Amino acid sequence: MGQEPIFIKDLPLEALETWVQTIGERPFRARQIFRHLYHRVIRSWDECSDLSKAFRTQLEYGTRLHAVEVVATEDAADDTRKFVFRLRDGSLIESVLIPDPPRLTACVSSQVGCALGCRFCLTGTMGLTRHLATAEIVDQVVHMQQDAGPGRRITNIVFMGMGEPLANEEALLPALNILMDPTGFGFSHRRITVSTVGLVPQMARLGRETPVNLAVSLHAADDDTRNRLMPINRKYPLAVLMEACRAYPMPSRKRITFEYILLKDVNDRPEDARRLVRLLASVRSKVNLIPFNPHPNLPFERPSEERILAFQEILQNAHLTATIRQSRGADIRAACGQLAARMVSS
Ligand code: SF4
Repeated sequence: MGQEPIFIKDLPLEALETWVQTIGERPFRARQIFRHLYHRVIRSWDECSDLSKAFRTQLEYGTRLHAVEVVATEDAADDTRKFVFRLRDGSLIESVLIPDPPRLTACVSSQVGCALGCRFCLTGTMGLTRHLATAEIVDQVVHMQQDAGPGRRITNIVFMGMGEPLANEEALLPALNILMDPTGFGFSHRRITVSTVGLVPQMARLGRETPVNLAVSLHAADDDTRNRLMPINRKYPLAVLMEACRAYPMPSRKRITFEYILLKDVNDRPEDARRLVRLLASVRSKVNLIPFNPHPNLPFERPSEERILAFQEILQNAHLTATIRQSRGADIRAACGQLAARMVSS
């Protein structure tokens, strides 16, 4: 063909329809390919017996089927499975598959490293290497679905792995389009959550362009504490962030999830909980409290159980929905960035 092969998982259905026509095929072929890629999650074009041999050869030489490759997996005692993927340039990223029957949640990465430097996050200590391409985002889900096997479908996707997804919106938005397309995976928008530290302009675009769930990593209810934990707060302080949350377009049944990592003596006091109540008073919200999972390279501790429960109680007494999310896969360092960071440094 003389041209560089394309990464086929970069293309949403409409773009794939255009591409198949450029190689002389009819547009409906794109739907067939989409079903093979994302419904059957094929590992090789040879599995597509309804495509002619000549077309399969064109696909073999004209496209790259895989954008990431599994280089390691690790299982936790609670059945959480962590995947380390190598990209074509040798970079490593990680994803996690979390069984919580009847749910099976895939937590995916959107960047290699991250530029935002949140102090409680190991990925933040790595800096940003680069954004992932759409195919590299989508292929994480494909590999995890292949690993789960035909009798177990992934039910939910959360963008809470390495990186800030809204810093990579040009790749994220087509990836969401592919994941929700009913011809392939067909994930409902209710089953996909994009988590952000609060990049305000990009949040507005996400809300305009897709109906997926939004999670905001809040982690502090006052600017001083948040400035210390999350440098992004200096650019988009809480007043600006909360205004963006209030303006976020949401169907009436949806709420924004606010993630709040509980760090001992940093943001876990009763007055922090009361501030959080005031901050969220005018937003349709639910709160995920995440007791910190200690790591030798991070300077924080987990609060006591009493502190955690007392924090939750203050929120609940103010009629906020507040759940405590136990860290899954703690024994395999499933918190964001931890396994890939270990592999990079070993
Ligand atoms: S918490 Fe998210 S946004 Fe912050 S440094 Fe880690 S990966 Fe980046």
